[in-house]
Amino acid sequence: DRASVAYFGAGPSPLPTDVLETAAVSLINHNNSGLSLVEQSHRSALSGQILQSAKDSFLKIINATADTHTVLFMAGGGTLQFSAVVYNLFSLWALKNPERAANGERGFCEYLVTGGWSSKAADEAKRLVGEENVNVVFDSRNYSESKKFGNIPDAGEWKGNLKKGRDSAFVYYCDNETVDGVEFPKGTPVDTLAEDPERIIVADMSSNIISRTFDASKFGIIFAGAQKNIGSTGVTIVVIRNDILTLLTSGGSLPPKLTPQIPVTPVMMHYPTISKAGSLYNTLPIFDVYIAGLTLTRLLQRDESGKTALAQQEEESNLKAKLLYDVLDKYSEIYHVVPAKAVRSRMNICFRILAPGDEAKFIKGGEEIGLVGLKGHRSVGGIRISNYNAVAVESVQKLAQYLEEYAKAAL
Ligand code: PMP
Repeated sequence: DRASVAYFGAGPSPLPTDVLETAAVSLINHNNSGLSLVEQSHRSALSGQILQSAKDSFLKIINATADTHTVLFMAGGGTLQFSAVVYNLFSLWALKNPERAANGERGFCEYLVTGGWSSKAADEAKRLVGEENVNVVFDSRNYSESKKFGNIPDAGEWKGNLKKGRDSAFVYYCDNETVDGVEFPKGTPVDTLAEDPERIIVADMSSNIISRTFDASKFGIIFAGAQKNIGSTGVTIVVIRNDILTLLTSGGSLPPKLTPQIPVTPVMMHYPTISKAGSLYNTLPIFDVYIAGLTLTRLLQRDESGKTALAQQEEESNLKAKLLYDVLDKYSEIYHVVPAKAVRSRMNICFRILAPGDEAKFIKGGEEIGLVGLKGHRSVGGIRISNYNAVAVESVQKLAQYLEEYAKAAL
């Protein structure tokens, strides 16, 4: 049964059992309506209320309001946003710089490449607007001897490669690299990037959203697939600063053709269109929004004793990560943590077992006592422990104990 299994999968990830129990009832008979929630119209009053409540909870958790930010629910995962930010923000650049756009310019976009996901996002931008319009501010592989991800250079090393905010459509980074176990330390790099107020900062927070506090006002766009810290697969949360959305909307509520060199945004990626429709331009999976809403409401219930829900979640996330890294560091003859210490992810703990062939044995031994989902990503191998919000402290304690016992036996 669920209680005997501790799941550390990288996404989809575990959800709180009480959330799943509530959702299970709704799958058959939502609120005693005699209908399943998956049978209800996305345009019903009921669905509208579910959407609104999830948006409100999310804004409250990130300490933002509808006056300054708009929350969109979109399909297509984080991957769709790799394309959507490019289409929308090059259009925004053209709207802000009509004369330059009329002269055939299209501006640049800039990427900090720290792992597999930001690398994929940069590749997509190159496909859409051409390599010559994509400025890779740095690729952290160039800062390591192994030429692999696992490090982030200090801002002093790459700041000089940034373009001026007015020449750049946006600068993009991935706050937590799920595959490589690399996370930007809190407040970085956004504080450096925000030094130029004209710069629009885009962050992929798919795998660490609502695991620590952040200053939403500094970001132009934040996106996150729900399937890690928020809910089930099927919806992506996009948060846009209202000044950006307003200017984008001035181009037309359906995507316009601005100039020949600026690509027209496909309608399902056009933020003004989705926003104007209240995220219901087409049939949104409301059941997934419902699950997200339940998880968000549950998190908000922690809002007490002068400490916000997110601050409390942050403490818990940090504590769980520390429990694991402490054992891994204690037995450094047995385990090797892959990323550099200063940029170790609190969400995805990636390590190797030094003895050849022992990783399969470790994974199998874990499975036998109900510790599952520990295999590293197929592209990098090794072990990966994903420590998302719904992973209980007790599950982490059990895993830390297994790491300890395994190491002692192997010494
Ligand atoms: N960005 C990050 C950081 C991710 O971890 C993932 C998926 N694991 C994605 C983007 C892609 O998300 P999706 O599969 O929802 O398209």
